[in-house]
Amino acid sequence: MNIHEYQAKELLAKYGVPVPAGYPAMSVEEAVEAAKKLPGPLWVVKSQIHAGGRGKGRFKELGPEGKGGVRLARSIDEVREHAQEMLGKTLVTVQTGPAGKKVQRLYITDGVDIEKEFYLALLVDRESGRVAIVASTEGGVEIEKVAHETPEKIATINVDPATRLMPHHGREVAAALGLTGDLAKQAGKVLAKLYETFLGTDASQIEINPLAITGTGELMVLDAKVGFDSNADFRHPDLEQLRDLAEEEPMEIEASKYDLSYIKLDGSIGCMVNGAGLAMATMDIIKLEGGEPANFLDVGGGANKEKVTAAFKIILSDPAVKGILVNIFGGIMRCDIIAEGIVAAAREVDLKVPLVVRLEGTNVQQGKDILASSGLPIIPANDLGDAARKIVAEVKEAVPA
Ligand code: ADP
Ligand code: MG
Repeated sequence: MNIHEYQAKELLAKYGVPVPAGYPAMSVEEAVEAAKKLPGPLWVVKSQIHAGGRGKGRFKELGPEGKGGVRLARSIDEVREHAQEMLGKTLVTVQTGPAGKKVQRLYITDGVDIEKEFYLALLVDRESGRVAIVASTEGGVEIEKVAHETPEKIATINVDPATRLMPHHGREVAAALGLTGDLAKQAGKVLAKLYETFLGTDASQIEINPLAITGTGELMVLDAKVGFDSNADFRHPDLEQLRDLAEEEPMEIEASKYDLSYIKLDGSIGCMVNGAGLAMATMDIIKLEGGEPANFLDVGGGANKEKVTAAFKIILSDPAVKGILVNIFGGIMRCDIIAEGIVAAAREVDLKVPLVVRLEGTNVQQGKDILASSGLPIIPANDLGDAARKIVAEVKEAVPA
């Protein structure tokens, strides 16, 4: 789960990380009220979307000449103008994809006098299985570019989970950022607090870009991106309220209600499969046959009629879907029960696209008989290859290349 910048900053502030003061705003009036609570004379109006690159991003409605998604304001009136111009518009950044994201919240924050910008992140390094600290003097700009062009400017330091964070990690980060004296001390403190936040919230990522040295010689977090490990959600019921459903794929939200693992993709063949491994294999073989999967969907072990119906509805709510491939292995769940579920669900949703079903496992013959005698135009398949060839052919016929 990801959260907004303002939520990340509120969380970091609770752990004692230095952040500028600021308030979220859902309307122009709220933005003005927020600005009045801050001292000025410089404010920053920041679009809140779950994507970075906002400063350099552009609003679709304003064109390439328009201003970006992070703007400085030198008066309350200017805050109002920016808020008016940004709210409700679609911001396109390098991280949103061409469709962009609608800005529904703003963050009004203290403008800081910046001397220098750094990059500092904590994440889980899958290779070492440890928390890694990533630090670079090249903050502010896109870190992906730095990693590509001047990788020597990025330092990566692993933390041993047995010792946890030690003072020497702080010194290494300070050295990597070229900091000495009091600023080096501050870097150690900020790092310790970020690490505490990381462990305390079961974060998967805390990315600070930029971490700035201010004109008064203080280290401050000016932008923060925080994501949590969803496997640990149950340990943090308090974090659930930070979820912004407007930022998530609506079909994925619907799927989570039925305990279905669904991820939307860009193709035209909807897939309904039990088991994550089989779902991956099904997607692979669709591609091998020249088709493109429209989604990943694992209905899980207990695929009953309700779940299958919900899965059909979710798959069909994607207008790009031109055909569906059901690939179910009846182990604990018998094929006849699954077949009944498919027939009932196909009737309920009034299926209009071709449906290929491959069943295998316990009571497979009874299952196939139920599908065949249903009167529905279900295309049976004998194995995975056969199923993929059939659905790809059906979809090609429906939408000639
Ligand atoms: P993004 O990374 O999505 O573009 P940032 O929050 O990093 O958004 O903002 C972009 C740039 O705007 C920063 O690199 C920084 O130079 C400037 N900026 C952001 N917040 C402030 C602030 N509170 N005061 C002054 N400048 C800021
Ligand atoms: Mg940033």
